[in-house]
Amino acid sequence: MRKPDIHDLLKTRFGYDEFRPLQVDIIQTVLAGRDALVLMPTGGGKSLCYQLPALCLEGLTLVVSPLIALMKDQVDALRANGVAAAFVNSTVPASEARGILAEARSGRLKILYIAPERLAVPGFSEFLGSANVSLIAIDEAHCISEWGHDFRPDYRNLRVLRERFPNAPVMALTATATAQVRDDIVGQLAIPEARQFVASFDRKNLTYTVRPKRRAFDALLELLRQHAGGSAIVYCLSRQNTEDLAADLGDEGIRALPYHAGLDASRRRDTQDRFIRDEVPVVTATIAFGMGIDKPDVRLIVHYHLPKTLEGYYQETGRAGRDDLPSTCVLFYGASDRHALSGFIEQIEDETERERAWQKLRQMVRYSELHTCRRAFLLDYFGEVYDQATCGNCDVCLTEREEFDATEIAQKVLSAIIRTGERFGAAHIVQVLRGGRARRVLALGHDRLSVYGIVRDHDRAELHEIVSLLENAGLVRRSADQYQTLAVTPGGREFLRGREPLTLARVKRVEADAPQPRPGLDHLDFDRGLFEQLRDLRFRLAQARNVPPYVVFGDRSLQEMAHYAPQSCESFSHISGVGRVKLDEFAGEFLEVIRGYAESHGLVERRKPQRETRRRRNLRREGSTHRQTLDLFLGGLSIADISRRRRLAAATIMSHLEDLIAADVTLPLERELPAPERLTRIREAFATTNSRSLATVRGLLGDDYSYDELRLVRAWLDQQHRRNVDASGHTAEAPPS
Ligand code: ADP
Ligand code: ZN
Repeated sequence: MRKPDIHDLLKTRFGYDEFRPLQVDIIQTVLAGRDALVLMPTGGGKSLCYQLPALCLEGLTLVVSPLIALMKDQVDALRANGVAAAFVNSTVPASEARGILAEARSGRLKILYIAPERLAVPGFSEFLGSANVSLIAIDEAHCISEWGHDFRPDYRNLRVLRERFPNAPVMALTATATAQVRDDIVGQLAIPEARQFVASFDRKNLTYTVRPKRRAFDALLELLRQHAGGSAIVYCLSRQNTEDLAADLGDEGIRALPYHAGLDASRRRDTQDRFIRDEVPVVTATIAFGMGIDKPDVRLIVHYHLPKTLEGYYQETGRAGRDDLPSTCVLFYGASDRHALSGFIEQIEDETERERAWQKLRQMVRYSELHTCRRAFLLDYFGEVYDQATCGNCDVCLTEREEFDATEIAQKVLSAIIRTGERFGAAHIVQVLRGGRARRVLALGHDRLSVYGIVRDHDRAELHEIVSLLENAGLVRRSADQYQTLAVTPGGREFLRGREPLTLARVKRVEADAPQPRPGLDHLDFDRGLFEQLRDLRFRLAQARNVPPYVVFGDRSLQEMAHYAPQSCESFSHISGVGRVKLDEFAGEFLEVIRGYAESHGLVERRKPQRETRRRRNLRREGSTHRQTLDLFLGGLSIADISRRRRLAAATIMSHLEDLIAADVTLPLERELPAPERLTRIREAFATTNSRSLATVRGLLGDDYSYDELRLVRAWLDQQHRRNVDASGHTAEAPPS
């Protein structure tokens, strides 16, 4: 059998047009039989890296995951794409598990998810003895390391898989791995030769914003209203906070449920399910919420209170926008939260632990008070070099700035730092400069310094901003301990001596609204009304099938439908997320909604630009079997003639022509069409059944019509349809050369 092309599989099975960064390399590596270690951020698209090879390989792909709650969703999503997948874990009754393992052994199953505990279950070893395993994927691979944050002793048993199936490549995947954890994974799994893939942890589609914590509840309401229709998580500090906030939101007409570790298991599961199924749009939660959910379309993550660490913050915000669509992360920052956390930290008994907690909090505070790109700061913190001057997608980069001559004010600030002995934090320096009467200023005699009270034209906030700007310009340094005392750097002294002019860029002084994310970033201007109708349909279809809505189609798919307004199966098939199985199952109902809406709102279909895939290029390549058929057909031979000449079945020739049409080649099919009356009847049959299925149409027309004939008309209709769309003025692509 011909090895399926991985680009083909991406579209036909998963419905996607393009691979994400690294996916191709990773897939090719395991298909070549090599082990791989994959580090990708949440939402990077790790699952596809083993799901797609699983379809290319002969035997079974075994996926180990500790997240039992996720297995069902993953398997549902695979099945919706027609992939034979199943899971066995503690929630599956023994008898059922036996049946699933039998399926797996027989080769009917392509992908089997197991929890690591399964390896110790009696009988599983026999199963492994008889199964034909061709790929082993270890998800959340950091669980194998005691250095990670989520050590699971059962993961240590996984190396038996390597011993059991020495020829099956092992793929370890994780979103969290320091060099230490990475080494541990490779060592523990005994995959020293594994190729390591480290993706960028930059989540370009996430907008990072920090808001001052003033009238925060009103601001939260507004945010949630702006994101109505999407899902949101609001992280809070305490269990009580989550309950109070959910109730308050409810009073304002926003449906929200609380989630924290103090609620009983069934209540938590229920909340999680309702969130995943779009039955409740908002969850107010402690950090206990999130591990077990893989919801790709969370559009907003709010931190209503200051998180304790940047690690936690990045992980929590990482749950937004896994589907790569623009999503927002907002942190409310105020001094009271900082004090509350400081209070907790002071109660930590162990000194090293307490010091570590201080350090983490300081980083969190620095992030919150940043006047430079937040993304650059985050990536730098996680050890990645970010070399862009501006990300264009955080509140700092999105805020308009103005340059100003800072020469004089900088001299004053630096002098004050030096005169007070470089032993004080920003608050004290600002006090001195503004001539404040704080007890400490007076007690230290700082009111007698020449720098006392020399700044009158800047308020406190402005001075704090200037201190930060000087820090970013490298003229001032903040100590790393909890006091954050300021000192002047050698560069700062140089500046004082040299008396060169200094220009800094500060936030433009206008009370601006919340910054809007930069448009153009994977951003379609789709029709909102149509999108809502499609969303309703998706919700109904998902409920009927008892799966989460995103299993039917992701938001990206609906957005494309609401933008391109496809009106035929052929154009529908080009929508992202529409693979072969979903085309058959869902095209009818979605097209009906789109057509109805288009008609009543005067919406015209737009042609989606098709990427020239390798497969499509191949079709027209000199000497390819499709090309031979094409040349003969263009040379005037009939399908029957070509079939005879090439000694291939007429059905094969017809399928070549269909592939060529799908690849945008225009063919003179008219000469093969049946007589006008027959043609009309066939056309009508396709229209009334609203189906691409030849059997359905033939069922309507009767045996007098042949499959070959119907197939030809279908191909011709596709081609006609494409022309009409192009003629409506939306040609998006040059004709094939
Ligand atoms: P991770 O496990 O790395 O957090 P997932 O595997 O859950 O990420 O993928 C996140 C989302 O991206 C899923 O909805 C998945 O279907 C989607 N996805 C993965 N690869 C692609 C791709 N090549 N094109 C479009 N969407 C993709
Ligand atoms: Zn930025």
